[in-house]
Amino acid sequence: MTQPMKIKVGISSCLLGEEVRYDGSHKHLRLATDSLSRYFDFVPECPEMGIGMGVPRKPIRLVGDVERPRAVAIHDQELDYTQSLTAFGEQKAAEHDDLTGYIFMKNSPSCGVFRVKVYQDNGYPAQTPGRGVYARAFIDAHPLLPVEESGRLCDPTLRENFVTRVFAYANWQALEKEGLSASTILDFHSRYKYTLMAHSPNKYAELGRMLADAGNHDPVDLGQRYFAALMTTLGSLASRKTHTNVLMHLQGYLKKNISRHEKAELNRIIEQYRTAQLPLIVPVTLLKHHFNNHPDPYINRQAYLQPYPDDLSLRNAI
Ligand code: SF4
Repeated sequence: MTQPMKIKVGISSCLLGEEVRYDGSHKHLRLATDSLSRYFDFVPECPEMGIGMGVPRKPIRLVGDVERPRAVAIHDQELDYTQSLTAFGEQKAAEHDDLTGYIFMKNSPSCGVFRVKVYQDNGYPAQTPGRGVYARAFIDAHPLLPVEESGRLCDPTLRENFVTRVFAYANWQALEKEGLSASTILDFHSRYKYTLMAHSPNKYAELGRMLADAGNHDPVDLGQRYFAALMTTLGSLASRKTHTNVLMHLQGYLKKNISRHEKAELNRIIEQYRTAQLPLIVPVTLLKHHFNNHPDPYINRQAYLQPYPDDLSLRNAI
């Protein structure tokens, strides 16, 4: 059996079990090595090792302005690594311009993305958290890249959202490689209709308006604008309410093909999903079963029914 092509995703080295932390330890993320690695070709980077800090090394932390903090040694603020970590982030962002996502280590003054403590002159962290210096430089260079942190990936909804974005990003990259045209962008939008509706019905409609006169625009420029709006939309979390809306729409395509009894059963399952008695995988599997028996060329191409490989089991927990 041929192996599926893996997609390249950046990751903090310590999350792969590499003993590169300041004290020689690691922060092995089993989700990455045991599950995601079946489809992700991980590209590890340890910025602190990359700038030559070595192991063991003095721990560092963020200080100063939460918007632009400095990364300094905890016991000697004169040892300032901000510039080296920033330059390393910019260099790696230029080298790795083919990544489709990035998993960063949480809380790290170099790699943390969302909630890194920034210490103030009084010795306490500011109320507002900051972002690690390397992560900031990398993300600033690739603002649409799907990124997540190790801790947040324990949340099933955030995990599913991240993987959905990574695969959407990879699908778009493949389209760009083939060459963008008005018709390929419209076809992509058509395939992502129900995925987008699950994230935001309003944004789906807005994107449709953006493409209304696609033939009159330069496809590369239109593609850039479309892709930016697409990734922003996918970044907002789908809810049980919006998923239920999509499931009901999909069910509508079956109304002429399934029996009254089957319809009642499907309705019951969707309702049980809506009221949180069942995970999303159950109604989606039942819908796929019916569409296997009664294929619909439009629905069978929908990314919503296959946003990523089934064996990642991400819809079992949401
Ligand atoms: S968090 Fe980043 S800098 Fe710290 S050990 Fe892990 S990879 Fe290296």
